[in-house]
Amino acid sequence: MKKFYYENAKFSDLTTIRVGGCIERFFQPASKESFINLLSEEKGPLFVLGAGSNTLASDETFAQTVVRTRFGKIEVVKKQHEKALIRSDAGIIWDDFVSSCAQMGLQGVESLSGIPGTVGAAVVQNIGAYGSEVSETVAEVEVWDRKLGRVEVLDRSSMEFGYRTSLIKKDIQSQSPFAPNSRFVVLSALFSLSCESFAPIKYGSVAEQLKKPMGSAESVRNIRKAVLAVRGAKNMLEDPARYKSKIMKDMTPERLEGLPLPAAPNFDRCSCGSFFTNPVVSLQAASLLPPSAPKYPASKGVKLSAAWLIEHAGFEKGYPLKEHPRAKAALSTSHALAITNRGSAGASDVMSLANEVRRGVKGKFGIDLALEPVLVGLEEK
Ligand SMILES: Cc1cc2nc3c(=O)[nH]c(=O)nc-3n(C[C@H](O)[C@H](O)[C@H](O)COP(=O)(O)OP(=O)(O)OC[C@H]3O[C@@H](n4cnc5c(N)ncnc54)[C@H](O)[C@@H]3O)c2cc1C
Repeated sequence: MKKFYYENAKFSDLTTIRVGGCIERFFQPASKESFINLLSEEKGPLFVLGAGSNTLASDETFAQTVVRTRFGKIEVVKKQHEKALIRSDAGIIWDDFVSSCAQMGLQGVESLSGIPGTVGAAVVQNIGAYGSEVSETVAEVEVWDRKLGRVEVLDRSSMEFGYRTSLIKKDIQSQSPFAPNSRFVVLSALFSLSCESFAPIKYGSVAEQLKKPMGSAESVRNIRKAVLAVRGAKNMLEDPARYKSKIMKDMTPERLEGLPLPAAPNFDRCSCGSFFTNPVVSLQAASLLPPSAPKYPASKGVKLSAAWLIEHAGFEKGYPLKEHPRAKAALSTSHALAITNRGSAGASDVMSLANEVRRGVKGKFGIDLALEPVLVGLEEK
């Protein structure tokens, strides 16, 4: 069987933060069938990589197998009256999926426009933004179960979705015997969307962009456009330039061919997005914070803004570039939650800044910040 093996692959070429060492065995199957064949043959440890937008890998050579998902199709399974069931393979770029849904006038994922990554990882991470989470639309997830060695279907309740987590993410974080991956590899996901092409505006900055009041109805296409504009202003969009590196050439999705490279690199885009999740704390812990600290009701307490905590612990946007303009890793100059690679950062530069920020927030407010990206070959200290 042809195994779609590529030589000289490096995590630094395959992740949005552009950090990480060489990969000893790297495969990129071109179809779901060859992906399943590969998974059924590879019994040893492996890491499934999507678009690398939430992965921070060590600078050491990764001596195990990496399989990258870059295959797939989007299929309308059923469209009847008010509901549509749409299936997407795991390797589809998430924003291509959102764009297709918006073009079909389907409602449910428009607020998640412009989030980098693949459909497979979107359900693992339970991505969320601007008042929506992907779990609200997931009907079921088709997985390869590495323990049973067969395809299984997990319905929405079995996925144990929570804030930026799922059954699969919890398995990754709990030292799964299948580490560095989970027992489950996502093959496809089935989404249940509404055929109502007007949706309520759920978020203040999106309402401002649309110049309409919160809660008023707007077409899903216009909401998508507004979300892309708001994200673009914060450098929180995918960076197509990274698909231009040498190793990626024969893996480049067609849609990105011909896109011009930016004149100067935009280092604010070399990140994993938010490096920290918003902490959820008890009512009592929240009451100890100053009244100006944003607090949102959550199912298990109060959700705080990690960005507010970071900035009020003394780490302004761009930290530490003011004192150290040549710092290798720094907070994004447009978003305090994102740690960025300013061109030559290694994993240790990123982790030491992350730990400095965590210590600062703990010291000032007594609150622990949890990391959002998946660490490969790195210890969380
Ligand atoms: C600029 C920027 C902005 C961002 N904004 C947001 C945001 O607004 N909201 C948000 O929630 N996130 C955001 N993120 C984080 C990121 O986009 C998401 O977490 C995304 O879902 C990661 O997708 P990926 O394919 O790149 O995952 P990867 O980084 O490739 O993988 C992440 C994890 O998922 C696992 N995985 C990947 N594919 C599969 C599969 N098929 N089966 C099983 N496991 C798999 C990997 O093994 C790994 O553990 C942002 C990131 C960046 C860089």
